[in-house]
Amino acid sequence: CSGPTKTGARQNQSYKARRAPGRRRSKTKPAAMETQTSEAEKEMREWCVALPKVELHAHLNGSIRNSTLLELAKELGDKGVIVFEDVKGVIMKNDRSLPECVRLFDLFHTLTTDHDTVTRIAKEVVGDFAAENVVYLEIRTTPKNNEAKGITKRSYMNAVVKGLKSVEDVDVVINDEKLSCTPMSVLGGDTKRKKIYVRLLLSIDRHETTSAALDTVNLAMEMKDQGVIGIDLSGNPVVGEWETYLPALEHAKELGIPTTIHCGEVPNRKEIQAMLDFCPQRLGHVCCLDDEEWKKLKSSVIPVTSFLFLAFHYL
Ligand SMILES: [Zn+2]
Repeated sequence: CSGPTKTGARQNQSYKARRAPGRRRSKTKPAAMETQTSEAEKEMREWCVALPKVELHAHLNGSIRNSTLLELAKELGDKGVIVFEDVKGVIMKNDRSLPECVRLFDLFHTLTTDHDTVTRIAKEVVGDFAAENVVYLEIRTTPKNNEAKGITKRSYMNAVVKGLKSVEDVDVVINDEKLSCTPMSVLGGDTKRKKIYVRLLLSIDRHETTSAALDTVNLAMEMKDQGVIGIDLSGNPVVGEWETYLPALEHAKELGIPTTIHCGEVPNRKEIQAMLDFCPQRLGHVCCLDDEEWKKLKSSVIPVTSFLFLAFHYL
């Protein structure tokens, strides 16, 4: 899922004067073409980074630095909890299949089972997004109970919030009522200290029971003053039944908590219909809809957050 560099761009006044660098044509030899292309790509990358951006679909675990993942995996490998060499390849692979992604998600859950690690990851992720000029960031994460490790859903979220508050090089704003009217040129500019607005979405994992899902919704309500603005349903798309999560999602609706749902990651017709009928505030991914479902989605005007790469990958 998402991480820094996979953000959506938003144009603003200060950047209107800047033209996106285009690819240059080369009439010279292939080697020269190659050099020129890589220079054009570098220029384009720098331009994309400089744009102030809004990121609405960042999974905390999906945004962990590869270097941190490798370090944590190595530690667990040394303790004999996992076989490091087995997971190293999956961590470093760019073009992952869905089963490999799911395997990686399982690894994330194994790696993030203490408060300090969760705090570290949250801190690094926000710092990385800010470094790429993301000015508004929504992070989704799954609060987990892990009795053996002394972690509750609440203490997990406290560790996340602690991470957000411990970012040093950037001003992280998580608990104000309204977004500031500060010009975007200042928010994303390079002359003043950077500011990033961070909001949290609590995810219900598809492995969870109805009762655990309801706990997450109630926790979201408790943490409204700490940047929590919504509920997400996510996880392995071939696990679980819609009916299991529905009571929690309806509870969120009753409490006035916005919901976003990972929908149509696999062609599960019955579930896609039920999700569209629920009419959440947003849908995520939406890669495997048929024509009728597309029509229904368009007429319901539910915004979709997706990644072009992922969408192309599955279409
Ligand atoms: Zn997602």
